[in-house]
This record gives sequence, structure tokens and C-alpha cells, in this order.
Amino acid sequence: MNTMIISLLIVLILLLFILIVVLAILGNRFLKIKESQVNISQNTDSSKVDSQTDKQKTKVEKRKVSPEILEALRSKGVDKSQINSVYCNDHPDVYSNGKCSISLEPLCEQCLSKQGEILVGRKYLDLFLESEWEELFMIKQDKDVKDRFLKTKKELWENDQLPVIIQGHYKINVQDDNIEEYIVVLARPEDKDVVKRSFKWH
Ligand SMILES: [Zn+2]
Repeated sequence: MNTMIISLLIVLILLLFILIVVLAILGNRFLKIKESQVNISQNTDSSKVDSQTDKQKTKVEKRKVSPEILEALRSKGVDKSQINSVYCNDHPDVYSNGKCSISLEPLCEQCLSKQGEILVGRKYLDLFLESEWEELFMIKQDKDVKDRFLKTKKELWENDQLPVIIQGHYKINVQDDNIEEYIVVLARPEDKDVVKRSFKWH
């Protein structure tokens, strides 16, 4: 009787052992399956993320393209003006901001001073402020006239150190409602005769 119970117990223990082993194997498989499922879902997640970043990329690229085009369009004008403009005579790496009325040098903002309507290089500011300026004549402007005036003015300054200021002046013609451009020539009283003679061709 005792041996019967013992053998039954042994069988039971064996069965339990087998059950545990089977459960362990099953559990292991289950875990593996779950892992792979997780992996799959992670993969799909990451592919989702990828497609999202792709979308973002294309969005970014799209966004990138249009500002670039805009920039290009905008800079076109800037480039044009930069190509046309020149550098300051005293600062070769700075764009000029205008021409000195006395020397006609292109100068930068730092080198120019605005005296009313007239731009004067700071280095000639004393000359400008200490001189009296007399209007010698006013003449209706066209391209030819302006070029000749500027040429004569340049010669007077470079050859004889005579400062002459040429100003643009606008007049509204009431009769035909036109804006007419004039040139006003200013000189120091002491230079008046020489300057007048130099401009006598006009
Ligand atoms: Zn400068």
C-alpha cells in the first residue's frame, strides 16, 4: 500500500515536472512571439516615424525652396544695385552711400555728411561750411548737359582745386503738368568768374 502511494506520488511529481517543462517551453515561445510582435510594432512605429520625417523633410524642403526663390528674387534687385554701386573711396570694403558734391568721390555713410539737400564728404565739410555759395545759373537738364557740367566741374576741382556744387532741382510746369529737372550751379564768390568762363558753353 505504501509503495503504491509512493509510486503514485512519483508519477505525480514526474507529471508536474513535465507540466512545468511544457509550460516553460510554451512560455518561452510566447515570450519570443511577443518580442517579435513588439519588434514588428516597433518597426511599423519607426517606419511611421520615418514617413513622418519624410513628410517633414518634404515640408521643410518645400519651405526651403520658396524662401530661397524669394531670397533669390529679392537679392536680384540687391545684386543689381550692388553691381551698379561702387565702394567708398576711403573704405574699399564698404559700399558708397552717395557722391560728395565737391569732389564727386563715392563715399560711404560714415564719410558723408548731409547738409540740407547737399551731400558733402566729411573731409570737405570745413571747405563747404566756411565758404559762401552763390548760385551762378540754373539750366534745364538733359543727360548731355548733365554729363558736360559734371565733366567741367571735375576738371575745375582736379586741376584748379575750385569747388563747384551742382545740384539737381525740380520744377513743376503748371501748364503741361510736367516735372522739369534743372541743374543749379553753385560756386564761391571768389571763383565766380573762372567758373562762369569754364561753363560758358552752356
Ligand atoms: Zn567711407
